[in-house]
Amino acid sequence: LLVTTTVESLRDFLKNFKQGSVGLVPTMGALHAGHIFLINQARQAYDLVVVSIFVNPLQFGAGEDYFKYPRNLESDRQVCEQAGVDVIFAPDCSELYGSATDETMRVVPPESMTRVLCGRSRIGHFTGVATVVTKLLNIIQPQGAYFGEKDGQQVAIIRRLVKDLNFRTEIIAVPTVRLASGLALSSRNQYLQPNQLDVAASLYASLQRAELLFRAGDLRSEVLIAAVKSHLSPSVALEYVELVNAESLMNVEAKITNKTMLAIAGRVGNTRLIDNIILNPSKTIPL
Ligand code: AMP
Repeated sequence: LLVTTTVESLRDFLKNFKQGSVGLVPTMGALHAGHIFLINQARQAYDLVVVSIFVNPLQFGAGEDYFKYPRNLESDRQVCEQAGVDVIFAPDCSELYGSATDETMRVVPPESMTRVLCGRSRIGHFTGVATVVTKLLNIIQPQGAYFGEKDGQQVAIIRRLVKDLNFRTEIIAVPTVRLASGLALSSRNQYLQPNQLDVAASLYASLQRAELLFRAGDLRSEVLIAAVKSHLSPSVALEYVELVNAESLMNVEAKITNKTMLAIAGRVGNTRLIDNIILNPSKTIPL
């Protein structure tokens, strides 16, 4: 397992690997079983697996958790070693952006995708994500890159980025890894107190209530949204629950007709959590 911190040393290494295919798993570290699932998928499909570990300041807003975000390169290194990763790319901020982060060039996705859902409260977040993913794709030029469906808006925006800017990388979206309670694994779960775990699990439990109705044949947005709201723990400070087209992120009006994302965000104490499920009318197996 090679750990590199500079673009130059990474490129030098990749130069000697021209024949094989490269799979990239971009992360912010604090690796958990969700990340490992992405790594395993990449491991099976590509000759060389690169994991990037970079807490990207561009995607954090003022007052967000950039400074307290968990960082532990040594334990991440062990996780990667165990999972058969070939290369960790862990640059520091100046390596990617130089000294003036404020002045760096940005990649700006369409507002129709960045100003909805999480983008309403996290102004600039998805521009930060698109910028760092663009840089990683250019630096590493992988054949495939892996992203978690847990961040469904991110997946949609990155697919759009790759299409609009003609990247050659295939984007692979991987299902969400959950605890037995249904809570989606997240590095931010570390902020939760033990007694908040059940409350946090109600995000997914409430999405499942809507899924049950959907599978029984109810396609009405209002009914599905109401089902989520009524089953959510009252201790969750709900930010949004919405049905959107999984690709365009456009709001679903009266009824679900296409592949739809039911997405939720809320706070448990000070911890902001998100989750989503995909409802696909063409793939529904009646209960
Ligand atoms: P992060 O380190 O949180 O930026 O996540 C890095 C990648 O792992 C992103 O593509 C996430 O969507 C993905 N990921 C995070 N949590 C999970 C999870 N519970 N299941 C699957 N993928 C995840």
